[in-house]
Parts: sequence; structure tokens; C-alpha cells
Amino acid sequence: MVQRVAIIGAGSSGLVSIKCCLDEGLEPTCFEQSHDIGGLWRFTEAGRICVYRSVITNTSKEMMCFSDFPFPEDFPNYMNHSRLLEYFRMYAKHFSLLSYIHFKTTVHSVRKRPDFSTTGQWDVVTETDGTVESAVFDAVMVCSGHYAEPHLPLDSFPGIENRFRGQYLHSWEYKDSASFQGKRVLVLGVGNSGGDIAVEISRVAAQVFLSTRSGTWVISRISDHGFPFDMMLTTRFHNCLENFLPSALMRWLRLKKFNTWFDHANYGLIPQKSLIVNDELPSCILSGTVVVKPNVEEFMESSAVFEDGTVEENIDMVVFATGYTFSFPFLEESVRNNCRSKYTLYKYIFPPPLEKPTLAVLGLIALTGSIMAGTEVQARWVTRVFKGRQTYTQTWSPNEINSFKTNKRKYFFTQCTSKIKTSYIGYMDEIASCVGVKPNVLLLFLKDPKLALEVFFGPCTPCQYRLAGPGKWVGARNTILTQWHRAVKPLRTRVINDSSNHSLVFHWLTILGLPALLCAGLLICKLTPEATPGLGTLRIHTLALQLI
Ligand code: NAP
Repeated sequence: MVQRVAIIGAGSSGLVSIKCCLDEGLEPTCFEQSHDIGGLWRFTEAGRICVYRSVITNTSKEMMCFSDFPFPEDFPNYMNHSRLLEYFRMYAKHFSLLSYIHFKTTVHSVRKRPDFSTTGQWDVVTETDGTVESAVFDAVMVCSGHYAEPHLPLDSFPGIENRFRGQYLHSWEYKDSASFQGKRVLVLGVGNSGGDIAVEISRVAAQVFLSTRSGTWVISRISDHGFPFDMMLTTRFHNCLENFLPSALMRWLRLKKFNTWFDHANYGLIPQKSLIVNDELPSCILSGTVVVKPNVEEFMESSAVFEDGTVEENIDMVVFATGYTFSFPFLEESVRNNCRSKYTLYKYIFPPPLEKPTLAVLGLIALTGSIMAGTEVQARWVTRVFKGRQTYTQTWSPNEINSFKTNKRKYFFTQCTSKIKTSYIGYMDEIASCVGVKPNVLLLFLKDPKLALEVFFGPCTPCQYRLAGPGKWVGARNTILTQWHRAVKPLRTRVINDSSNHSLVFHWLTILGLPALLCAGLLICKLTPEATPGLGTLRIHTLALQLI
């Protein structure tokens, strides 16, 4: 029987893993090599991989919170690293997690014990201040993150090492734009880092060029009526449309929606094989402070030659915003080999084939929504498997792996496998089903229609996975019903008297049933497209807008 669990890393995945262990009556011991919690999200000036100073989350607080611990209502919807770290500290304090963490402790090796096939136990060797210790654990949760090593593809850029006289760096070394003042800068890669860094540097640089091989969709954090885009888009209703409508129609709808803000073809960002969140990039391109370029063919002494034959002279600095790779150097080779790709992990979690499922890799997922929420549901399942409360039958066949990849492709309708992501709701529901916490929406419509409407048409927040089943949280219903209020709360810092009682209208529409609600929504939308509604009416607008 598993009792003692080693958790490697005290970032967001590590913290939630400690909490889930405690919930299941397991004994967690967390090893963190730095002196503090927060992982990537704890900004430091130098020396370790972490976010840059100006980073703002690209998932909103309602979507990224831990499922039984919503952000304080006055926190902004998107926040900088210090606010998020503050939340982690509150979470750690509230659930008394800190005493389980051994700081400044590096895990050197995790190896199966000789009797592993019967016990499933691991030898874990750690080092703290030069003192090496070994301990036996019944199970291991790897929470060391998947941005462990910078991906610096120097080989793909002839001349960068031996001809180019300017400076080059990887985005992990980027902290702020101070050293780019007045420079001509080339940023390689248009992921979220590339987009953010290009925008920030463009405010001080003489010129920024942004080179992309494959283009990207750029979406804003701000959606219809100023609500966070993920609260509007990540709904079960949308998910149903994704699953049931012809993919050509969905592709057309999405294309139409994403190109409404700006035409990606005119901005040189097609063919879009990924999606980034950036509020300012289109404006920078429009005003010429960021110029989009194709892939670099080669570097000369002070210039970059692009694949379309154009040349940009006098390049002072090159930023490789080319992403990260993961590695688990502490795992014994046989296990590490099975963790080379997330596709080899059963449900992106368990490396096959282990005689006993006592090692799990958390957070090695690329979702179309919050990874924090995805990691939490993983941790809930893993700890129940460890505890023996959930059965574990590994049927991860090559066919199943292919079907996972097909689902991903369907979502982003692209052939590029490296960048596409797994459907957030699809994955959350799948792991939640394993835990027994997937909400039964049909049943909910019979038992609690008000809540069911919010669960189906509203944002699929992590709290939905606390409504029933193991780990049910009494606060979940109210948290879901007040989520729009919490989204608006930090915006209403200049209070304006709004006397209209829209909630009553919404209440009656709810009682009259779904068809009436949708018809009314469509009608209101057509009749008052420019209205500035209060929350209740706005929700109806939203439902209608989602349909058309
Ligand atoms: P990324 O998403 O992996 O993007 C790296 C980009 O580098 C690729 O999209 C590709 O862009 C380019 N690239 C990769 N290999 C290349 C090669 N051999 N030659 C040329 N170009 C190459 O990395 P990231 O932007 O650093 O993001 C890492 C993670 O952090 C992501 O999950 C991201 O969402 C997250 N992040 C979040 C925030 C936030 O919350 N605000 C901010 C930053 C990052 P092209 O195809 O365009 O060339």
C-alpha cells in the first residue's frame, strides 16, 4: 500500500500534488531545489529559468484557479507574476503545505528498488547543502516542469555562431528591455514569448523584426464586452459544437472570428499553426515598430538573410524565442526513456510499462486551456491511483495514441504536430471521469437548472470538477454562480450606479427554458447590438453571439 510519496518540485504542480496527497491520506515529501515555491512563476533577476519581468498570464483567474480555491475577487483577471505568486502563497498557507517542502534540496536520482515488482518502491537520492541522503518512497510525482531546458537550435541558423558579430541570447535570459535601447533586434519564433518580447523591446529599440516559420493566430485577452476570452470561448457549449458540427464549418467560423480583429494574411502571420495571446502585437505591426519576416536562411556578419531573399542589415541583437525542452535527468534510464515524449505517457501521466503504477509525471501537457487546472485533475487521479482507490488498467496502445493526436489535430485543424494542443475540456473530462468527478450536465439540468445553464453555457472552470464525487467541495456551486461577478469586480474601481435589475430577467428566462432563452438572446442581439448591458442581459447576448 502506497503511503510515502516523493514530490519533485514546488511550483504550481508540486503544490497541488502535496495538497492532493494530503486529501487522500498520503504522506507527501516535496523536494525543491531553490529556496522558495512558485517554480517558473517566481521572477528572479538571473541564474534560473523563470518568467520575464513584464509577463502577464494568458489564462484568466477564473479558468486557472485551483478547483477549490478561487482567486480573491479583487485580483485582476489576468495578472503578473507577483500576483500569481501571492496566490500560490495563499494556497500553500490555507492548506498548510509548506511544512512538507524541503527547500534547497536537489533530487539526484530516482531508481526502482530491487524488489520493485512486488513493492513498487523507489530509492530517492537528494542533496541539501552538500549532504547527500537516500530515502525509500512508495511513489513519486515528478513536478519539475516541462520548460527545464532552453531549446536553442543554432544548427538551423547557419552563420549565427561563426559569422554573426552581434549578440544573441535565448528568451530564458531575457528579463526586460533595458539592454535593447536603440538597437536593431531580430526575434526568432512567434510563440507567446516571441510575441511578448518583440512587443516589449519595440518600445525602446530602433527596430524589431519578428521572424516566423509558420505564422500564428493572435488573439486578445479581451473578448466580447471586455470579458476574458477564455471565459467566453472555453465552454461546454462550444465544445459540443466542436464535436458535432462539421469541421469545415467550425474552421470557417473560427477563421471568421479570429480574423475579425485583424486580417492575419495582411499581417504576414499565415499559415497559422499555433495560437498566441497578445493584445499589442497587431498594433505594433500596424505602426511598423515590429516587422514580420519569414524564417532566416543565414546570418552574415551584421545582417540576416531571410528565406524570401530579403536582407535586414545592421542587426545588433538576436533573441531566440524558440521554446523549451524537458528532461528528467534524475530518473533511471529505463524510465527516462519512456518519458521522452508526452505521447508515450499513459494519458500524458504514467510512463509505461511499470510493474506498479507508482511514478507519475505531472503537467507534461499542452492544453487549449489552463495547465494549472489540467495538472490539478491529474494530481487528483494520480493520488487516488496511488492510494488504491481507483483502478488502473493501462491500455495505452499505439492506436489510442494516434486517436489522441487526431483529436488534437481536429481542434487546431493543422498538420503541424509540434505546436497543436489537446482540447482542454476533452482532456479535463477524460481525467475527471477516471477520478469520478466529471459533472453530469443532463442530470444537473433536472436537479439544478440554474447551475446547469452556467455549467453548460458558462466557462468550464476547474470548480465544475468539485460539484460531485470524491473531493466534492461545498463552495463549488456558489463559486460557479458568482464567476461573472468575480470577473467584473476588479474592473469596477469607479463605481457607477446601475439600477436595472437584469438578474430577474435572466431568472425568468431560465425558468421558461432553454429555447426561450436562446430565442430571446437572438432577438435582443439583433434589436440592440450597440447596447451597453448589465451583466444579466450581457449573458443573454453572449449566448446568442455564441450561436451566430
Ligand atoms: P514555444 O511556444 O515553444 O514557441 C517557440 C517558437 O519558436 C515556435 O513557435 C517556433 O515559432 C519557433 N521555433 C522553434 N524551433 C525553431 C527552429 N528550429 N527554427 C526556427 N524557429 C523555431 O515557446 P515559448 O513562446 O517560449 O513558450 C513556452 C511556453 O510558455 C508556452 O507554453 C507558452 O504558452 C508559455 N508562455 C506563456 C506566457 C504567458 O502566460 N503570458 C508567456 C510566454 C510563454 P515559428 O514557427 O513562428 O518560427
